[in-house]
Amino acid sequence: MEKVGITIIGAGVVGLAIVHELAKSGRKDILVVEKNTRYGLETSSRNSEVIHSGIYYPKDSLKAKLCVQGRIKLYELCEKHKIPFRKSGKLIVSLDETEFEYLHKLKENGQQNGVEGLEIMSKNMLNQLEPNVSGYGALFSPETGIIDSEKLMHYFYHTSKEAGAIIVFDSKVIDIDRINSGYAVTIEKDNYKFETEILINSAGLYADEIAGYAGLNIDKLGYRIKYCKGEYFKINRNINIEHLIYPVPEKVSLGTHLVIDMAGGKKLGPNSIYVDSISYDVDESHKTDFYEKAVRYIPDITLDDLSPDTSGIRAKLQDEKDDFRDFIIKDETENGLAGFINIIGIESPGLTASPAIAEYVSRMVRI
Ligand SMILES: Cc1cc2nc3c(=O)[nH]c(=O)nc-3n(C[C@H](O)[C@H](O)[C@H](O)COP(=O)(O)OP(=O)(O)OC[C@H]3O[C@@H](n4cnc5c(N)ncnc54)[C@H](O)[C@@H]3O)c2cc1C
Repeated sequence: MEKVGITIIGAGVVGLAIVHELAKSGRKDILVVEKNTRYGLETSSRNSEVIHSGIYYPKDSLKAKLCVQGRIKLYELCEKHKIPFRKSGKLIVSLDETEFEYLHKLKENGQQNGVEGLEIMSKNMLNQLEPNVSGYGALFSPETGIIDSEKLMHYFYHTSKEAGAIIVFDSKVIDIDRINSGYAVTIEKDNYKFETEILINSAGLYADEIAGYAGLNIDKLGYRIKYCKGEYFKINRNINIEHLIYPVPEKVSLGTHLVIDMAGGKKLGPNSIYVDSISYDVDESHKTDFYEKAVRYIPDITLDDLSPDTSGIRAKLQDEKDDFRDFIIKDETENGLAGFINIIGIESPGLTASPAIAEYVSRMVRI
């Protein structure tokens, strides 16, 4: 069997950020195996492309720490390597006094997480900043921005290859066996097997399945992923709004918000619907629901302005009835699998956190 030092399963933004981090530190024996024909065809290209500031997550959680660190790293990377981004700023808009009170708690939480520049805005201040948005008041986050995620992945992919990493496509992992020197990995095509000393599982929506191949009891360990779909509807008219506009967050998501892309296009989304299987169709019958949510804070919008756009699926650990679940980033030594690193449940803010997840994992690899 052929041997490699480190294998990464999955070439989404997380797998690519990890290979980039490891390859730049000089390791030459790194392989990435991806089941699709190209990198980034799943969740990493089906999201809002927002660089989150880190307001929402509980203090000291991985989501909070890696979001704040990842955001700072992303802005540095973008500036240094000309990856398109815009620090557009974001407004979380409250619709009544109760929601406005909640914004004060969010501000405090964000400050505890190290988010800079958060500011509570009165109705008047909100109107001055965004005349086409209505609300009772808002929380302004100047550090939130948007990024061209395809260009980010392109950068990670090419620099990793230049540094000597091998990234192969059409290579679906279908089995993993523990062997003396590490792991034997089986690829579906030709039942090809190879050996790796360290195995990093960043398989996104399938990361629980991969953990199961390695022999872990995913239900007992709480690793089972629940698919939570998020649909988007495009706004077909130019509404003059400069900032990302969010409602106060819901239990399982940040709420259907106004997304602005790098070209200035605007869409609403994502909603959140738990599903049993993966399909990216957008249900047109959800249009009225999107409209009714949006018109509360963008009064100018009409039903005819909206048409179905894309969708993405969140790799959630949290069930509808669960409270907060953090990212799982873990070397499985205590479960008898030394050198097997699981990265599971990387829902939002996974894009933002990706460079910080990569640094965190590369420290585990060097231990
Ligand atoms: C609707 C939505 C909106 C979001 N908005 C934001 C946002 O605005 N900001 C933000 O920071 N985050 C956001 N996120 C989260 C972010 O998109 C994800 O955290 C991030 O893309 C996860 O990247 P990943 O590499 O873990 O997963 P993926 O992109 O899914 O990559 C995993 C890869 O593993 C491969 N793979 C799986 N199984 C195998 C196998 N058996 N063999 C080989 N390869 C395999 C897959 O083909 C895939 O390419 C959003 C997510 C969703 C769904």
